[in-house]
Amino acid sequence: VSELKAATTTSSTCKGGNMVAGGTLAIRRLNMSYGHLEVLKGVDLVIPQGSVTCIIGPSGSGKSTLLRCLNRLVEPKGGDILLDGKSILTMKPEALRRRVGMVFQHFNLFPDHTALDNVMLSLRKIKGMPRGEARRIGEARLADVGLLGRKDHRPSGLSGGQQQRVAIARALAMDPEVILFDEVTSALDPELVKGVLDLIADLGRQGMTMAVVTHEMGFARRVADQVVFMDEGRIVEVGSPADIFDAPKSDRLRRFLAEVL
Ligand code: ADP
Ligand code: MG
Repeated sequence: VSELKAATTTSSTCKGGNMVAGGTLAIRRLNMSYGHLEVLKGVDLVIPQGSVTCIIGPSGSGKSTLLRCLNRLVEPKGGDILLDGKSILTMKPEALRRRVGMVFQHFNLFPDHTALDNVMLSLRKIKGMPRGEARRIGEARLADVGLLGRKDHRPSGLSGGQQQRVAIARALAMDPEVILFDEVTSALDPELVKGVLDLIADLGRQGMTMAVVTHEMGFARRVADQVVFMDEGRIVEVGSPADIFDAPKSDRLRRFLAEVL
């Protein structure tokens, strides 16, 4: 009975309960280039555990590259990234990606698999979890994003917003300490954007550590604990939403806000 109770408690609170762990990222003098093109030029930033960091800036400023370094999808040329004080650059990428999840603009779901299989796959393959347990967790995470009723649908049978929520459920299923979101609403029809942003805001309220690259300035103002403005491979300003949106210090940020707001 107590085991059953524990299991029930876990699954009913796991939306918040599975995301209380560590996960402070400290980025130190990070450099990255593609060939001769310098894309990150000495980025310093701390993403504190349990906080939401929104990253804004013009196209080409290096936002995606920064996130990709945090997940080792690309390797920086210099500097370091610490996760709870330990360099991620010496970890195995697979080990790192269990701790730092990522959600992409174009969902990247497997088209031939159902929603539930998409969520279960990395649990099976990366964590080597038995099918029954992976199914239980997969169903719980789909329920968290409001899509348990669609678990047997393939991506093509889901709206863009639903596909993105499946992708978020997939990231959550790995029980990561940090989740990176790269313009996850940019490919969605306008009426589907709010549902996905509300879900991310909800995760933030539950204490998930997140870095969110977004063009949604209203979201950044409402949800971010800190906002980072990047331009040309550098962080130009960091501050609270009020600092960034109401009292920008640099001309570059003022010009950017004048264009997007
Ligand atoms: P953002 O996400 O802010 O739009 P990116 O990080 O995608 O910026 O890109 C930063 C710069 O790096 C841009 O000049 C872009 O053209 C270049 N870039 C991005 N990815 C690659 C790549 N795989 N190969 C070469 N250049 C790239
Ligand atoms: Mg980008």
